[in-house]
Amino acid sequence: MSITIYQDMDGCVCDFGLAMVTEIKRLATLSDTEIDALESKSLKKGLRKYIGVFGAEYDLQKAELNHKVVLPLLYKIGCQEGWLYDLPTMEHNGLWDWVKNSGFYYEFLTAPIGMYAEEDKTRYVREVLGSEAVVNVVPRSEKVSFCTPDSVLIDDHHTTIKEWNKAGGHGFLWTGVEGGDLKALKDFIKGLQ
Ligand SMILES: [Mg+2]
Repeated sequence: MSITIYQDMDGCVCDFGLAMVTEIKRLATLSDTEIDALESKSLKKGLRKYIGVFGAEYDLQKAELNHKVVLPLLYKIGCQEGWLYDLPTMEHNGLWDWVKNSGFYYEFLTAPIGMYAEEDKTRYVREVLGSEAVVNVVPRSEKVSFCTPDSVLIDDHHTTIKEWNKAGGHGFLWTGVEGGDLKALKDFIKGLQ
């Protein structure tokens, strides 16, 4: 079987969550005057709401990024030009290092946020990761359309993995810094050959 690996980016190879938590916590500690000076009205509004609910010094966690008060901030921040290019690379448990040197054909399969996603993510892959791999930027719900019987999806999103498996592919849930298990991934792929 000639395997193609589809590699998710955010939460697997780049640390969107860490960057977002750090930025929201930084913004929350700005003074009133500094918040007033922010250009985006919706960012100001979202930030004030966040501070009202959580407080300026709240130690926000990645798992709380989908909170309804946090999500509008996340979209506002994440869709800025260059944001997705500036993300830190995750090397947890050596996933990316393994993928790029595994010898398997791989492409990136990643969901967008904002109008700069395709440009910034492609630049990230070329310049930060040093890879010439194809970068497919599609909404999360469309990832499954890339599925073939020989394809492995490595992704941190439960639903996407489920959809991929249901469509006849091989989904491997990569759950991030805490749960990414490279040995389990290698065994999983070995089991397919
Ligand atoms: Mg992801």
